[in-house]
Amino acid sequence: MFNNLSDKLDKALHVLKGHGSITEVNVAETLKEVRRALLDADVNFKIAKQFTTTVKEKALGQDVLTTLQPGQLMVKIVKDELTELMGGDAEGINLSGTPSVILMSGLQGSGKTTFSGKLANYLKNKKTKKPLLVACDVYRPAAIDQLHVVGEQIGVEVYSDKGNTDPVAIAQAGIAHAKANGHNVVIIDTAGRLAVDEAMMTEISNIHAAIKPQETLFVVDSMTGQDAVNTAKAFNDVLNFDGVILTKLDGDTRGGAAISIKSVVNKPIKFIGTGEKMEAIDVFYPSRMADRILG
Ligand code: GDP
Repeated sequence: MFNNLSDKLDKALHVLKGHGSITEVNVAETLKEVRRALLDADVNFKIAKQFTTTVKEKALGQDVLTTLQPGQLMVKIVKDELTELMGGDAEGINLSGTPSVILMSGLQGSGKTTFSGKLANYLKNKKTKKPLLVACDVYRPAAIDQLHVVGEQIGVEVYSDKGNTDPVAIAQAGIAHAKANGHNVVIIDTAGRLAVDEAMMTEISNIHAAIKPQETLFVVDSMTGQDAVNTAKAFNDVLNFDGVILTKLDGDTRGGAAISIKSVVNKPIKFIGTGEKMEAIDVFYPSRMADRILG
C-alpha cells in the first residue's frame, strides 16, 4: 500500500535520520522533498504546502536543531502530523438505534454494494448484531441481484422490492421489515451514478431526510485520487455525512485520497476496503496508516 509514497518519504527523511546534528538547510531540503513526495502521491497542493509549513513550525517550536537526536524528532513530527492530517483518533460507527440505520452513498462503481456486504459480515461476526441489507437501487436490477449474491455469500438477509421505483418507500419498508424480524442493524445500499448529478443528489438526500439514519457513510474509490476528494466534497455538501469509506486500497493507488480527504471534508475515514472478498475490510486507524507510510 502506498509503496511509492513510502519510498519517497523514506528517502526524504533518510538524510535526517543519520545525522547527529542537523542544520536549518537540512530541514528545509527535507521538507521540500516531503512536499514533493506528497504531491506525487496526488495530495492536493494546498494541503501539501500546509503540511510542510506546520511541520516546520512544530520543528522550530520544539527546538529540533538543539535536541540530542534531531533527525528522530523530525521523523516523529512528520509522523504525528500525517496522523493528524488523516484524522487523529480512530472513530467507530454509531450503532445506537433500534435498529441502527446505516445509509451508503457514493458513485456507481465506488464499491458501495461490496462494502455493504463487508460491513454486514463484519457486524454479523460481532455476534450481537443481526444485520439486514436493503437494496435501494431502482435503476439497475443487476445491482439488486448483486446484493442478493453478496447476502447469500455471508448469510445475511437482503430486503428488496424489484419493480418498485420509489427508493424512499423501499428504504422505509426495509426498516419496517427489520423491526418486525429482529434485525438490529439495517444497511441501505443506494443507487449511484457515474458522476455527481443533481438527480442523484436529490434522491439520496430524500432518502436521508425520510429515514434519518444513525450513520451516513460515503464510499469512495481511492484510485480516483483528487477526484475522490472533489466527489466527497459534493456529497458532504448535500448529506453532511458521518464518515468516509475508502475502497480499493489494495490497488496501486498513490494514497492522495487517504491523506487529503479528512482535511477537505473534516469527516473521519472509518473503514478501508482492501480487496474484493467479503473479509477485505479494515477499521481505519490514522496512526497505523502513518506508521505504514513512514515505515
Ligand atoms: P457500487 O457500484 O458502488 O455498488 O460498486 P461495487 O460494490 O459493485 O464495486 C465495483 C467493483 O469494485 C466490483 O468489481 C468490486 O468487486 C470492486 N471492489 C469493491 N471494493 C473493492 C476493494 O476494496 N478492492 C478491490 N480490488 N476491488 C473492490
